[in-house]
Amino acid sequence: MARRRVIVQGENSNKSEKGESNTRPTHRRNIKKSRSVLDSNIQVENSRIVSDAVLPAETPANIPGHVMKVTSDDQDALWAIVSEAVPAESKITGARFEGPSIAIYTKNPRFSLTELTMHLSSLSKSLKKRIVVRTDPSIRINENEARSRISKLLPKDVMLSAIFCDDATGEVILELNRPKIVDPDMIVNIAESTGWIAHTRQSPHIPSNSITLIHSLLKNSAKERTSFYQRVGTRIFRKPLMTSSLAVKSIEQGRNVSSFTNGNGVSDEVGDLSIPNQIVSTNSTNQGTPPLSSYPNSSKHEVMLYCLGGVKQVGRSCFIVVTPESKVMLDCGINPGENIALNAYPRLDWFTFSLDDLDAVIISHAHIDHQGFLPALYKFGYKGPVYCTEPTLPLMTLLQMDSIKIANNNGTYLPYEARDVNEVIKRCITLPYGKPTDISPDITVTLNNAGHIMGSATVHLNVSGAHNILYSGDYKYARTQLLDNALSIYPRVETLITESTYGNSSDVMPEQSLVYKGFTESINNTLKGGGKVLIPVPAVGRAQEIMLVLDREMKEGRLLESPIYIEGMISEASAIHMSYAYYLGYNVRKSVAEGINPFQSEYFTIVNGTRKREDVFNDDSPSIIMATSGMLEGGPSVEYFKEIAPGEKNKIMFVSYQINGTLGRRVIDGVMNEISMTDKNGKMKVIPVKCTTQKIDGFSGHSDFNQILSFISRVKPKRVLVNHGEKSKSENIASTVYHKLRIRSGVPDVREIIRLR
Ligand SMILES: [Zn+2]
Repeated sequence: MARRRVIVQGENSNKSEKGESNTRPTHRRNIKKSRSVLDSNIQVENSRIVSDAVLPAETPANIPGHVMKVTSDDQDALWAIVSEAVPAESKITGARFEGPSIAIYTKNPRFSLTELTMHLSSLSKSLKKRIVVRTDPSIRINENEARSRISKLLPKDVMLSAIFCDDATGEVILELNRPKIVDPDMIVNIAESTGWIAHTRQSPHIPSNSITLIHSLLKNSAKERTSFYQRVGTRIFRKPLMTSSLAVKSIEQGRNVSSFTNGNGVSDEVGDLSIPNQIVSTNSTNQGTPPLSSYPNSSKHEVMLYCLGGVKQVGRSCFIVVTPESKVMLDCGINPGENIALNAYPRLDWFTFSLDDLDAVIISHAHIDHQGFLPALYKFGYKGPVYCTEPTLPLMTLLQMDSIKIANNNGTYLPYEARDVNEVIKRCITLPYGKPTDISPDITVTLNNAGHIMGSATVHLNVSGAHNILYSGDYKYARTQLLDNALSIYPRVETLITESTYGNSSDVMPEQSLVYKGFTESINNTLKGGGKVLIPVPAVGRAQEIMLVLDREMKEGRLLESPIYIEGMISEASAIHMSYAYYLGYNVRKSVAEGINPFQSEYFTIVNGTRKREDVFNDDSPSIIMATSGMLEGGPSVEYFKEIAPGEKNKIMFVSYQINGTLGRRVIDGVMNEISMTDKNGKMKVIPVKCTTQKIDGFSGHSDFNQILSFISRVKPKRVLVNHGEKSKSENIASTVYHKLRIRSGVPDVREIIRLR
């Protein structure tokens, strides 16, 4: 019989008491009378079944009411606890640490997805770990058979456009025209009939190549990923180094209590931010007594921040949070405005740890200044997990693959290849918004909506309950056409790392209605004069926002009717937006639910391939062209630039931030009347810049000066570190935060180490 070793950690020491962000969305689940785990919230989270979000009606008798500590050092203990906690009808065949969860395998999915959830919920609370239900591989039928059975279970008017069975997780992804039709009961029926647990996505208007690539890679790497998830789980739930090496048992007030020394045999008192971390020996008779001692050594909570990029600059965002137990990287971007490696990439050369020491990389969003160096990290030997939201994975894959294409076309160097992008895909663990997730023995991460682009997240790190870091990534603290504003409700944040792209006091966005008016009038002027309007846009985010605005303004008669040409990559990104529509803002979600595809319009013409692009060049009539990249750094926008720039009637409108050093920035700054570029035959040619240029700030996905300050005052951190901004802008935010909000603030340097605690 498997031996059981339970270490009691003190009653009720749940995560919110640890000071962890309790940022679970307001759509907290209700328990149905049938005690089904599956409720209406399931669509929002892509039907991921995690029992810790379920409130049990009552605690089953065989689940202890206290917190049990089990680590991956003793998998037998885990199995013993699980098998004791669940009824025999659940037919549980295994339990193991997988990624950030405990995976429980069952041969009775109907029971396990309904009745069992109450037991698992209590167990999840006792173990303080997420539990995910998976089907036993032996009951999963093959993909073709599953497709046919699922089609029969769906109502006749529901179209199943794609299906993907993931052998590594037992999950089946269904692309449907009406994903909401798959309600909790349907998920149970599908699981019972096929052995696969269904997740749904919206069918996009065109198939997304990035999603297809991801599915095919995941399919071919299922075995490899199964062992990868186990490896990651074993690492996350390892026995903490500090508790295991420093724990010294003592007796206090007649109770069995372990306290700690600082290595010199001297006990310290717990600091005011520390959590109770009492350890009571096995089978203690005093389970339920309040904790008596805690981390005595404040160095156990030491939290250091290594700044490797993205400070006093926009581009190559990268930090590493170092605690006594873990090392976690936040973002891993490149600086597209720089050519020299030392300035273009994060300063990993200076970070003296090995890549093997990294527990995790967290990517806030898909823009290349936040993730563009990630494939190179794998190329140079990183083998661990990368965490991001679901839509961030296909969006960053799209942008990474595009970077490879641009580098090949331009003959420029890129520090990675397609196979490194594939590694990112295989090692990626996606997380929904608002779900606290353990990623190392002492760090729990929660991603929340940042309102910047689809899937963009603020990253909240809870370190041992002792220190909470909120890394903002890029965020918009205002609602846009596409997204809801960034979430700003956090019970406790000691350190806020905020962006400051628009950090000057004069960086105040005009009111949205005025932005639309100015935008429309300006385009009308050019169209009336017989010119073309080129709008260079980042494929992800601003492009979709501008598409919605152009379509609406034209439909409602304010914008002159003319063709709107959209380059292929933008429509690929839009297809991804449709697939993950539940990550978009309330209004867009609502339209999609009503069957409206906001990214399709009678005015849009998709331009795919160079031949069609030639047609656009040769057409003399007025038109609007949307093309990537947004900063004129490679991609079709540069090809259009060569044609548009020499024409006096034409206009280039910039709607996104232009990083220093990019062609877009130089054009806006008006520092050049002409530019030497290679033409389509590879010959150098001087391109005169005679067209009008205009910059419109109101479309930015970044917070303006006032929004940054509102966000900070809402979050109420104890300290603010300012990043992602030109030096003067970051300094302006830091100084305003200190003088107006009376909050400690600072602007770090690249290669600076800051002790946060
Ligand atoms: Zn961004």
